[in-house]
Amino acid sequence: MFDQTEFNNIRRKIGKDLLILAHHYQRPDVVALGDKIGDSLALSREAAESTAKYIVFAGVRFMGETAAALAGPGQSVYMPEPMAGCPLADMAPFEDVKQAFDTLTTLRGEQPLIVTYVNTNADVKALAGATGGIVCTSGNAVNVLKWAMKQGRQVMFVSDQNLGTNAARVLGINPGEITKLSVTGQVENEKAAASARLVLWNGYCHVHTFFRPEMVARAREQYPGCKVIVHPEAPREVVDLADEWGSTAGIVKFIEQAGPGATVVVGTEVNMVTRFAQNYKDRRVVPLAPSLCPNMWSTTRSKLLSVIRDFPENKRITVPADVARNARQALQRMFDIQD
Ligand code: SF4
Repeated sequence: MFDQTEFNNIRRKIGKDLLILAHHYQRPDVVALGDKIGDSLALSREAAESTAKYIVFAGVRFMGETAAALAGPGQSVYMPEPMAGCPLADMAPFEDVKQAFDTLTTLRGEQPLIVTYVNTNADVKALAGATGGIVCTSGNAVNVLKWAMKQGRQVMFVSDQNLGTNAARVLGINPGEITKLSVTGQVENEKAAASARLVLWNGYCHVHTFFRPEMVARAREQYPGCKVIVHPEAPREVVDLADEWGSTAGIVKFIEQAGPGATVVVGTEVNMVTRFAQNYKDRRVVPLAPSLCPNMWSTTRSKLLSVIRDFPENKRITVPADVARNARQALQRMFDIQD
């Protein structure tokens, strides 16, 4: 059971020693309890810059792990629902990524440079960090990929294939120079893999691959003159039909710039779209289709309250020291490009 008065009392008592981070895709009533609301990148920066003793992350597991890798001495990271995973991150298990990395190294005679989407587990980020690789988010994937392609090594992009494809198209990378791995990371065509400049992992987010081209056509019929924006984890055919694609921050900017009276159709997680619709009452913001992330949904206000009551050990997120150190290197390279 959630008790707002109890939450307020505990929150007040702990004060600055507590930082609650809430991802945009969380339930609206959980978002309302967050000190900071944002996407993966914004929240990992908040975690890195915070001096709070307790960081509570309302999100999914890879986010808690990222915050734990960035946490300083004396800081602890907790999740209200530590079992909330991300199927996209789980499509790139460390063993498979390492095996593909080794196969590409053998085929080319040099290690590929790993660009790892923030939606991966900490051990995959650590592999990237230890081998000169870098993390990216949906908001900076184009810039990070551009940087990676300039390093003169083959680039292995893990985990979301649609994000990799959409970013590569913006950079004008020739499709003939791109190859794809199987969903388990197998190299199916050794010749193509050896000569490719860019190798894409075959992972996807079911929340965003739910969107289909016919949904865009239907929205344009239903809302004549509307603008359509979709997340870059959406399939290429959907991105092609939209007016724009963008990360969470890009979507917010797009809605703001649309101006009063506009209709904006948004293809991303439905909780976020619904919340934005309430925030921008002078324009119409509608979901392209109701697509919900059940993993994000599994965090509730009651679970959040139960964490801050006594910070139980079974809700604490930890990352082994060597994994954290190497993952931090990959994250820091991303921060350096951004700054
Ligand atoms: S929306 Fe997709 S990428 Fe994000 S946590 Fe859910 S399954 Fe993972």
